[in-house]
Amino acid sequence: MSEESDLRESLTRVMQRMAQSGLNRGSSGNASARFRDGMLITPSGVPPAQLTPSMMVYVTPDGASAPDACRPSSERRMHWGILAARPEAQAVVHCHSRHATILACCEKPIPPIHYMLGVIGPGAVPVAPYETWGTEALARAAVAALEGRFGCLLAHHGQITIGRSLDHALAVAEELEEQAAVYYGTLLIGGAAALSAEQLAESARQFEGYGQR
Ligand SMILES: [Zn+2]
Repeated sequence: MSEESDLRESLTRVMQRMAQSGLNRGSSGNASARFRDGMLITPSGVPPAQLTPSMMVYVTPDGASAPDACRPSSERRMHWGILAARPEAQAVVHCHSRHATILACCEKPIPPIHYMLGVIGPGAVPVAPYETWGTEALARAAVAALEGRFGCLLAHHGQITIGRSLDHALAVAEELEEQAAVYYGTLLIGGAAALSAEQLAESARQFEGYGQR
């Protein structure tokens, strides 16, 4: 398979997996992958079950797409803004997963109360300030909140993650939703205890040697 057909297949699979796992509902949520000097991105307003690899849209750095292609995601500015600002990122995943969105609506960052938050980045997962969906202003807010980390909440909207691959960005999105659900649960029973700076630093060192070689 060519790199392009591979990415088109992966984008389709990621969207369908997000629907199956409950990370997303309806036609909200979108994903992109760096390709050539631009990106391949999911089309606007197509439910995941109806997506096919040929519907993925190539968008150039100046935002253009072929006239006979599907219309690209309404969040293409946010996706490209992030890919342009973060050369190490190969993919972006955005969704309105329930617990992340609950916290985002309350403008509550996720504090480091569980060591797995380190998968997303150091310290708390921040909330990017509210901006209207689909705008350059939202793209700038997301880029700023993602600095130094793989994921953040978007106020009154949802969550967005980046990765070294589409699968990595999806794994971060899944962990962000899990951490949001855990934090939400702790708020219901009186609040979590904090991890100390030393405990977090020790956990970060453990992550350096984590996984398969
Ligand atoms: Zn959205």
